[in-house]
Amino acid sequence: MKLENILNKRELSKEDIIYLLEISDFRSERRLFEYADETRRKFCGDEVHLRGIIEFSNYCENNCEYCGIRKDNSSIERYRMNADEIINSAKQISNAGIRTLILQSGNDDFFDADQISYIIYSIKNNTDVSINLSLGERSFEEYKTWKYAGADRYILKYESSDEILDPGILNKKKENLLMLKDLGYSTGISLLIGLPNQTNEKIADKILFAKETGIDFISLNPFIPAPNTPFRNNRVGSVELTLKAISVARILLKNSLIPATAAIAAIDSLGREKALRAGANMVIPNFTPKNYKEKYSVYPHKKYLVEDPLSGSSYIEYLLNSLGRKAVSSYDAVKDSENYSQIF
Ligand code: SAH
Repeated sequence: MKLENILNKRELSKEDIIYLLEISDFRSERRLFEYADETRRKFCGDEVHLRGIIEFSNYCENNCEYCGIRKDNSSIERYRMNADEIINSAKQISNAGIRTLILQSGNDDFFDADQISYIIYSIKNNTDVSINLSLGERSFEEYKTWKYAGADRYILKYESSDEILDPGILNKKKENLLMLKDLGYSTGISLLIGLPNQTNEKIADKILFAKETGIDFISLNPFIPAPNTPFRNNRVGSVELTLKAISVARILLKNSLIPATAAIAAIDSLGREKALRAGANMVIPNFTPKNYKEKYSVYPHKKYLVEDPLSGSSYIEYLLNSLGRKAVSSYDAVKDSENYSQIF
């Protein structure tokens, strides 16, 4: 059977990947998810990594057609957290026993090299965490300053890339990723699944690109139409295709970090469970203070999303227990198994 032949190969070709993304019968999909789950168990074990995220500014200079916080969306209220608020949220993450946090924002130059360095430095001084940044395309100098200040990983959102943005921006993103690697960052990318005009070939290209560049974190999110954006009337991305992309990424990237994202949980009440059974090995609880979190409206319909970290820790505990998995919160900077502490 063709599916088994592909799964048994040592290296998957682009055609193989497209074949896997296109399978549509229930049994084959289930087999793909199972195979990815086995791959995850073999290369990563049963530990699920936790990252606490702080969305500290929804100002953005970009105008990505899919995104609710795009510059031209004047219908949302903008906010910036101040340094003390950010450091406070970082302490909450650390107090919850989570050893890694993600600082995320729109592309907001208001937070310049010095400000972000101050925040990184203060967090590192006050808490025992490793820091991931996700601030968009910035200069080599800025990336370098933040690396010296103590940042460990950089997640570059890649999603709009060639389907929508002009090739110049895609090249810039590729250049930035290589810069980040040169500076010694662990790198990660994020893709949206189900954008208008997206083909399975383009998804395959990006997963292959992730493998070739040696990135070690890849996030695959269903596209969710956001109000007051050019894509507001487009169709929501498919949960099944997102899961297949997660599985393919796991099979190709072996021991990398793959989150069960908030976006998949937002459109499917069992989204996180399904992702964690199809190759994912990370959950990202949201520690943005409530009054700001509502305004970080990159997409709507958060009706299924259970992510309040304070009441949510029991949800995550329940989630992981029900899957026979356990939460581990390791430092990014340290190789797995060398240094981790179990929480709950
Ligand atoms: N400025 C940073 C971080 C962006 S955060 C960067 O560019 O790297 C906003 C993120 O929300 C997007 O990058 C994407 O991951 C997610 N997002 C935005 N619009 C979305 C949509 N319509 N559906 C699903 N996810 C979306």
